[in-house]
Amino acid sequence: MKVLKFGGTSVGSVENINNVKNIINDGEQKIIVLSAMSGTTNALVKITNCIVNNEPNIAIELINDLHIQYFETVDALISNKKLNKETKAYVNNVFDVLVQYTYGSYSTQLERKIVSQGELLSTFIFDIYLRQEGIRSTLLPALSFMRIDKTNEPDFFYIKQNFKTVIKNAAEATIYITQGFICIDEHGEVSNLQRGGSDYTATLIGAAIKAEEVQIWTDIDGMHNNDPRFVEHTKPISNLSYEEAAELAYFGAKILHPQTVTPVKADGIPVRLKNTMNPDAHGTLITGNYTENGIKAIAAKDNITAIKIKSGRMLQSHGFLKKVFEIFEVFETPIDMITTSEVAISLTIDDDRSLDKIVTELEKFALIDIDKNQSIVCLVGHSIVHHQDTFKLFQILQDVKIRMISYGGSNNNISLLVPTYEKKATLERLQDYIFKCLA
Ligand code: ASP
Repeated sequence: MKVLKFGGTSVGSVENINNVKNIINDGEQKIIVLSAMSGTTNALVKITNCIVNNEPNIAIELINDLHIQYFETVDALISNKKLNKETKAYVNNVFDVLVQYTYGSYSTQLERKIVSQGELLSTFIFDIYLRQEGIRSTLLPALSFMRIDKTNEPDFFYIKQNFKTVIKNAAEATIYITQGFICIDEHGEVSNLQRGGSDYTATLIGAAIKAEEVQIWTDIDGMHNNDPRFVEHTKPISNLSYEEAAELAYFGAKILHPQTVTPVKADGIPVRLKNTMNPDAHGTLITGNYTENGIKAIAAKDNITAIKIKSGRMLQSHGFLKKVFEIFEVFETPIDMITTSEVAISLTIDDDRSLDKIVTELEKFALIDIDKNQSIVCLVGHSIVHHQDTFKLFQILQDVKIRMISYGGSNNNISLLVPTYEKKATLERLQDYIFKCLA
């Protein structure tokens, strides 16, 4: 069986929902994972912020606007009177609950309950819509099988066992629909797989049932060789390996949740990225194969903080790096890039919530410089470190202010750190030097 995930834009308008129906309606049994309709999760996050800031009136306004929007969608989609009434009753209930929440006080738990409503709404509406269209569908509640453990990682054993039970006990259908993103935590409370987590839901289910293929349907023809938001004439990449896709997703390619390929890699389950608005386009196929060597794609990740740690006798005094890394471990802050010299280390983090505390600890034995607003520009491709054309990358050094370079950490990745105001220029220059010169 295949698992198909449709993102926010794919279910974000009546026209696109109709496209989704046409894509899935080929008589084959499949599992469909849905995101919330585009804009909904952001609106729910805003509502939560209003609760944090004690602004119930603004929250109620946002809730009412969203409520109206959902009623309009339901009316445009579900003409069958009985089904329309059933759907509106569900929608009303969700929005009544949201209104009640705004009068409560903020807690992380409340926030998680609020942001989970987007996927609950989209899947309920889509299930009814399919029924109206005569397609046999069944809703599988994600909260009954998708779970994370105390380290916030998916509890794969639980997911596998419970998904199998849930689908076995569900009414037989052609299309099984479930919510992306949402899950329960170790205490059984509502939680989630982080923003964009529906991709991860799809591959976790794919791995649990050893699916034939996992498809991620978005609004772009697969992963592009550069960031189309900043660079013109980017092209979709037809084939990527799991490693290449993971590096690109982690370092900023917004199309995929960074953890997406992790669950399916071991079993070699292919992941196909497709465009709901252009289903005939090839998209990107991610597998265990490396199709070619050399630089395949460039991605960039913003909001990076660089930390320079200077000490008179760094490398000669053994244990120095251990001392540094322990501080980051204590504050549960992952390090992305690292470079060293005899007297200093530079490293980067993207989660700066504990930055002040980390700096206080580091200052006990070193001098610290902080550079905020940096971007990691990451070049990915099989064996790029050894490829004959990789030297072209260094031609940009004369034009762009590069703060750090990470080369050789893996054969598939070279990363540059630049100030964010230089990011666009860096991406454009790399596009010219690498893809145009190579074309
Ligand atoms: N709805 C969630 C988000 O907007 C999860 C997802 O779409 O994958 O982040």
